[in-house]
Amino acid sequence: MHSRIPEPLKALVEQLARLPGLGPKSAMRAAMTLLKWPEAETRRLGRGIHDLRDNLHLCSRCGGLSSTDPCAVCADAGRTRETLCLVTEWDSMLTLDEGGFYRGQYMILGGLLAPLERMDSESLDLDRLTRRLDEGEVTELILALGATLEAENTASFIRQMVRKRFPQIRVSRLAQGIPLGAEVKYMDKETLRQSLQYRQDL
Ligand SMILES: [Zn+2]
Repeated sequence: MHSRIPEPLKALVEQLARLPGLGPKSAMRAAMTLLKWPEAETRRLGRGIHDLRDNLHLCSRCGGLSSTDPCAVCADAGRTRETLCLVTEWDSMLTLDEGGFYRGQYMILGGLLAPLERMDSESLDLDRLTRRLDEGEVTELILALGATLEAENTASFIRQMVRKRFPQIRVSRLAQGIPLGAEVKYMDKETLRQSLQYRQDL
């Protein structure tokens, strides 16, 4: 970066440039925009970022982001406790739940098996899953991990684990109308609703 850029601005641009979709140039543009904002607004944004860690928690039940623990979804007594939908990331859970057609529980896996990126079964939060299944309420585990190669590998790994340790639990996955490579969080509501309705046993 140009050496004439004042240090505080340079530091901010370097940090902004680490955000998805922002390279050094667009980070600089974003920083310049922030400088043109009224001071109160810039400070409000700063406070929002500052407070993010204090005011957000991971739900101890599902692993989702929430301002409460358990989160509103896990605390909802109107939802059935027999089906548990396993998603890769929290935003997939958001997408699924926005549709309003699934009224069971969720759990966030936090990643997929990806040997090339050194994501092995140790890196996945399988303890939380086995603890949950151990409680004995879940009768069906729905895998909504997407249709990528990593998702397929992870799904078959989990299916084997469940079959061995919890043979009474049905394992299903979203119907495969989903285009290959699709991530759950990018799917539209109708496709999601149908792939959930026509889910297949694994
Ligand atoms: Zn939760």
